[in-house]
Amino acid sequence: MIYADNAATTKLSEAALCTMTDLLREVWGNPSSLYTHGQEAKEVLEKAREEIAAVIGASPREITFTSGGSEADNQAIRSAAERGRIKGKKHIISTAFEHHAVLHTLEKLRKEGYEITLLDVHENGLVTPEEVGAAIREDTCLVTIMTANNEIGTIQPIREIGAVCRARGVLFHTDAVQAVGHIPLNVADDNIDLLSASAHKFHGPKGVGFLYARKGILLSNLIEGGAQERGKRAGTENVPGIGAMATALKEANANMAQNAAYLTKLRDRLIAGLKEIPHSALNGDEKRRLPGNVNFCFEGIEGESLLLLLDDKGIQASSGSACTSGSLDPSHVLLAIGRVHDVAHGSLRLSLGEDLSEEDIDYIIRSVKEVVTYLRGFSPIWRDLMSGKKEFIL
Ligand SMILES: *Cc1c(COP(=O)(O)O)cnc(C)c1O
Repeated sequence: MIYADNAATTKLSEAALCTMTDLLREVWGNPSSLYTHGQEAKEVLEKAREEIAAVIGASPREITFTSGGSEADNQAIRSAAERGRIKGKKHIISTAFEHHAVLHTLEKLRKEGYEITLLDVHENGLVTPEEVGAAIREDTCLVTIMTANNEIGTIQPIREIGAVCRARGVLFHTDAVQAVGHIPLNVADDNIDLLSASAHKFHGPKGVGFLYARKGILLSNLIEGGAQERGKRAGTENVPGIGAMATALKEANANMAQNAAYLTKLRDRLIAGLKEIPHSALNGDEKRRLPGNVNFCFEGIEGESLLLLLDDKGIQASSGSACTSGSLDPSHVLLAIGRVHDVAHGSLRLSLGEDLSEEDIDYIIRSVKEVVTYLRGFSPIWRDLMSGKKEFIL
């Protein structure tokens, strides 16, 4: 089996699995309990907090554990919106191709009376710091722009965007779920006020993540209850998950340079191979993208059939994002970079992992070529394109 859907989720690392099973078996006390076994669990939590903070250049008190990336995004945005409302500032800037955890939260805020500006991400899938600066107003309370896109992998100039926000006194949140553990990030150097991350995107377990909030930024809680997480996130902590998340992040961080170099090599080999397919195009900037991300559109076919036939060949990939598969709407990310509906439907995302070899990449290239040719053979759209009834876009 060739697993090429690491943007959807990653396999739990052996080290994280070990931490998790050890904690499940040995440290099952409630961290809020004052007796020894509870305090052992508390120590696991605080050690994980220190280790995670160290990786991103934060201090432990700035880390709040959550149930994952979606919750961290919701809490970050809700908190900044609430602080803004108190000051009479109800304008938020984001982009059209954020994850739905961000976009749907913003849509709700719009209904609650906030004004939302969604910046264009252009054909290359990038925003510029100048455009962010130009969109900032007197009443802007938050800029939220993802570090790396989950579908097309483009990496935003977040340090420069953060600097613009800092200079104008506006909070900057970044959904860094695809970036943490994969590319270097430092909340201080990168001028980040709020950052979301999720363990299962860096070989940790599902259902756990964290929110970084710079000292002095008051978080609003989404979940009311006990005083866990300094009163900002009620509920008995997921101690085994949090411990395993710290193990996975330390491991990913230690191997980051080596993994990124290897994945970049595989990625560029795959891009070069798929480019040979006529009437195809890479989505997103070719170089400013995550080391393992490849995303193509092939004219005249449907992504869903492509996926099923690749699955038959043992290749697991994705078309659009996992959250939207099952619906027939094309990906909002591909539409945001200007792909028309027909073309956006024929998309394929391959998000690579370190376990793949160059032979695997060559097998993927051969398989995609075969399947695209086969599908075009009986595609009515392809027939119209070939006969000149329709014009090629790619
Ligand atoms: C996966 C993902 C999320 C959601 O994280 P969960 O832990 O699955 O809730 C948010 N943003 C991005 C960019 C993602 O890739």
